[in-house]
Amino acid sequence: MNMHDLLKKASAGESLSQIELVHLLSVPPDSCDSYSVMAEANRISKELSGGYAEIHAQFALNLASCPCNCLFCSFAQVNGVFTEEIKLLPEEAVVYALQFEEKGANAIFVMTTAKYAFDHFIEMSQEIRRNMKPATTLIANVGDQTLENAKRLKDAGYAGVYHALRLREGSDTGLSPQKRKESIRNFQEAGLYVGTCVEPIGPEHTNEELAAMIKFTASFNPSYSGAARRITIPGTRMAGLGMINELRMAQIVAVTRLGMPRTVMGNCTHEPCTLGAIAGANLFWAELGANPRDIKARTEEGRGDTVEQCAALYKESNWDVWKGPSRYYQ
Ligand code: SF4
Repeated sequence: MNMHDLLKKASAGESLSQIELVHLLSVPPDSCDSYSVMAEANRISKELSGGYAEIHAQFALNLASCPCNCLFCSFAQVNGVFTEEIKLLPEEAVVYALQFEEKGANAIFVMTTAKYAFDHFIEMSQEIRRNMKPATTLIANVGDQTLENAKRLKDAGYAGVYHALRLREGSDTGLSPQKRKESIRNFQEAGLYVGTCVEPIGPEHTNEELAAMIKFTASFNPSYSGAARRITIPGTRMAGLGMINELRMAQIVAVTRLGMPRTVMGNCTHEPCTLGAIAGANLFWAELGANPRDIKARTEEGRGDTVEQCAALYKESNWDVWKGPSRYYQ
């Protein structure tokens, strides 16, 4: 397979096959070929988003030991990191959301663990919505939902959701891959935009698995796709598998961009880094409170980045930051 031909095809907006994506993922991350893929992904991302990247900001309504036991998650019961539940009061949630709004986040994500009571989530969401500017984009990051619940999210003022079929879903997680896919359909049917990602990537994932997941995310025309590496939670079973480095993650971010149709404007990566941005990532996340990749109960004291830190990384990578509500969720 000729790299020049593949890049020409991607540049013309043609869809790449799974085998072609595998080829792009197979070149060494620090090779000229890989840097050419990153450059082309950066060019496409900049063309689609007018050179403006976005910063979305997430906080969690609760911190709890979760029985779904996704092995990569610090909330998973099996990992034993958190044993006590902490739930934000409505006024605390509003303070978090207002903080992000004031800092200019383009969208605010409200997250819970999978077993958080849905009715309570709706009540909390209504309280948050009431306190936000009407133009502020609110996004839900919750567990699998029926169509009826998806409609309730829409009615509560959410523009969209984040939902992903994770790599090795059903074997590395206690969730059903079918239900994950069904939920994505339910959200879209309810009129919610769905952002997604190829995640959480570890060194054990093959290029074939990654390419298949890129194709899957492209198949439902998400608001954005992208790539995020698994962050090692010390002392867990998965810690032994290690972590890919930022350059490899940047390569996968770039290939994901090339694998998406042009209707998909966003390309995310997590955690934020300059290598991801130069490889075409135009979406970073800031975080507050509980975070499934952190062992600190308040990620602002741990791994979480602020809106300002994300903006600084973009600046170093030659991206401007969009001001105003997210364009990916419109
Ligand atoms: S990723 Fe979500 S569902 Fe899985 S263990 Fe963590 S909180 Fe539970």
